[in-house]
Amino acid sequence: MGDINFEDADKDVFSRLQSSGRISNELKRVMTQRYNRCSICGKTIEEKRPAFAGYDSGNSPLVTCADCSDALKELATPVYWTGTLDLSVDETQAMWRYMDFRRS
Ligand SMILES: [Zn+2]
Repeated sequence: MGDINFEDADKDVFSRLQSSGRISNELKRVMTQRYNRCSICGKTIEEKRPAFAGYDSGNSPLVTCADCSDALKELATPVYWTGTLDLSVDETQAMWRYMDFRRS
């Protein structure tokens, strides 16, 4: 993963919303298709700035820029654009937990 530039607006989001880590299949689809584009204003997320993936008050999945993060009722996970989509280690860990569960 490359360097991430956290600007004040990004830090504000983190101080306001805690990531829940709840990533539904729908949200995963939005993240895969639109990880670098804000669902609200349609702007491309600046390179090396985080996008914020989560849900609005109607539980619809969203990816937003920091400016539009007010639309998020729940932050699932920040998304970092480093040129390629990195869905972070969360998914892998969930996969391992799932496999352990199946084995026992
Ligand atoms: Zn936006």
